[in-house]
Amino acid sequence: GTADRKLGVALVGLGKYSTGQLAPALQETKFCRLAGIVTGSPAKASQWKRQHNIPDKNVYDYKTFDRIIDNPDIDIVYVVLPNALHAEYVVRAAQAGKHVICEKPMATTTADARRMLAAMKKAGKKFSIGYRLHFEPHHREMMRLGQQQAFGPVQRMVADNGFRFNNDTPWRVSKALGGGGPLLDMGIYCLQGCLYTKGQIPVSVTAKFAPKTDPALFKEVEAGISWQLQFADGATADCRTSYAENMTSRLRAEGSKGWAELAPAFGYGGLQGRTSQGPLNIQNVNQQAAQMDDFADCVLNNKPTRVPGEMGLRDVQLLEAIYRAAETGQKVST
Ligand code: NDP
Repeated sequence: GTADRKLGVALVGLGKYSTGQLAPALQETKFCRLAGIVTGSPAKASQWKRQHNIPDKNVYDYKTFDRIIDNPDIDIVYVVLPNALHAEYVVRAAQAGKHVICEKPMATTTADARRMLAAMKKAGKKFSIGYRLHFEPHHREMMRLGQQQAFGPVQRMVADNGFRFNNDTPWRVSKALGGGGPLLDMGIYCLQGCLYTKGQIPVSVTAKFAPKTDPALFKEVEAGISWQLQFADGATADCRTSYAENMTSRLRAEGSKGWAELAPAFGYGGLQGRTSQGPLNIQNVNQQAAQMDDFADCVLNNKPTRVPGEMGLRDVQLLEAIYRAAETGQKVST
């Protein structure tokens, strides 16, 4: 029966993340499996077919993709393309009647994000963003400690996430394909971390671009940016991201009665946490397997996802506000 069938996932875009993280995770998932691929590369298509035992009928390119509507093996389309291409493929997957996971950032403009939400609503299918850390136990604990005010109301947060970009994926420094630079790619984890630790949305933001260390590489997007979120109760979050500097990723929250911190905070594994009372002894898990199994569970049992498209739109709006604050030098209300 369908209840004991694993849901079929098709990965769209067989780049670094699909190859290095999602395909391996789909070998550990309980409720879904890798059933199809969508790729512009014939060489990758034949390699993946062999390696993952994918039948020809479940292999698409970007032109034949819409025929997926007729394929009952594919329940979930997972869009893992450069940021600016998310919108087109989510809309086409919606029109094909599939459930969809879309990688972060959901879109490069709020207009695209709204278009995606409307298409998914019309299709009546489940829609989530690839926010893997919502399913990661260190981050679950930060949410719990922060939202339940274990150290009093969170008054101050700090979040850092960045790395030295070597131009292996040039779309990441293209305005047209990336939509922006490290803020959309890495800074989004700082933003997300502060929002779910505080359990609130900020009322305003201020921001400042970092100097362009390599003007040729960072012709179209920022090399780095630091920004502050301001919350209604006066709490603040100081965040920083960069493509010019390797940082130990960090998420820290302080209240009047103590603090909690993850460092490293945002990687695929090896996360470590501590509070003012001592180390957090929490196991690392396969984040992508947990994320995809949760989504499959939502589809199978008609439950709402914890990381819906609406959250993706909210974050795109806040990221736009951060860019506006950096461009104008003004405090921007959200
Ligand atoms: P890659 O550049 O490695 O892969 C993107 C793939 O998209 C390419 O390999 C290609 O696949 C396909 N593609 C289609 N059109 C284009 C185009 N015009 N230019 C470049 N690639 C194209 O990127 P990543 O895998 O690192 O990132 C993909 C997405 O996943 C991004 O949105 C990123 O933000 C997100 N991501 C999320 C992570 C997370 O932790 N949640 C981690 C890393 C990335 P093909 O050859 O098969 O057609």
